[in-house]
Amino acid sequence: MTGHNNLNDAPQVGGALAHLAVTDWAPRVVLLGRQGSGKGTQADRLAALYHVPHISTGEAFRAAVREGTELGRTAQVYMDRGDLVPDDVTVGVLREHLVKEAGLGSGHPGGFVLDGFPRNMSQAVALGEMTGLDVVVNLDVSTEEVLRRIAGRRVCLDCKASYNVVNDAPKVAGTCDHCGGQLVQRDDDTEEAIRRRLQLYESETAPLVDWYTEQGLLATVDASGSPDEVTERTVQAIEAARRREALR
Ligand SMILES: [Zn+2]
Repeated sequence: MTGHNNLNDAPQVGGALAHLAVTDWAPRVVLLGRQGSGKGTQADRLAALYHVPHISTGEAFRAAVREGTELGRTAQVYMDRGDLVPDDVTVGVLREHLVKEAGLGSGHPGGFVLDGFPRNMSQAVALGEMTGLDVVVNLDVSTEEVLRRIAGRRVCLDCKASYNVVNDAPKVAGTCDHCGGQLVQRDDDTEEAIRRRLQLYESETAPLVDWYTEQGLLATVDASGSPDEVTERTVQAIEAARRREALR
């Protein structure tokens, strides 16, 4: 699998993963996972395998700003100042995006893979008021593994394509496969910066893990190993949730 994570790349689910495709169920999935867990990549793949939209907070904000919605304009003010967007604005933007992309509130709401939301308890409570969920997958990866993966990250100075010298190396070291540009490490990928971000994530999302466990929705998936292995395990966890629901 050559998964250079260019935003414009279509999700790659052919070849070794084609047998995982599911067409008769559109699950409502929340993906939790610290930075470096491969959450974005897995969300793309699950969305393609289950034919549901991949809903990310980042894309929801970009769409709202692009379309000039009232919430989008409000969010823009905070972002322009470099401030954190307040939860009620984030929740509103997410709700509008789910309405548009997943038919939330319509007669035929569909499934989705949510990535990057909820980030804290107040967002989780708001999401629970919007929609039910079928499964919350927690991609579990150790701090050492995260540090190892992030230390290997390289990004192209020209086209911004990303690589990882550990498991997604370019054909020629230091050179972009797409455009021949120079590959560099990002400034915020230092060990200290990563440890700080992981601590913040942990303090915000640890309560979510407990909360979704109490609701019987949490599935913890070992996110070490190759992206293909993690996709296999994640689909197994989602299908196990489906069998549990069928028994209810
Ligand atoms: Zn490039």
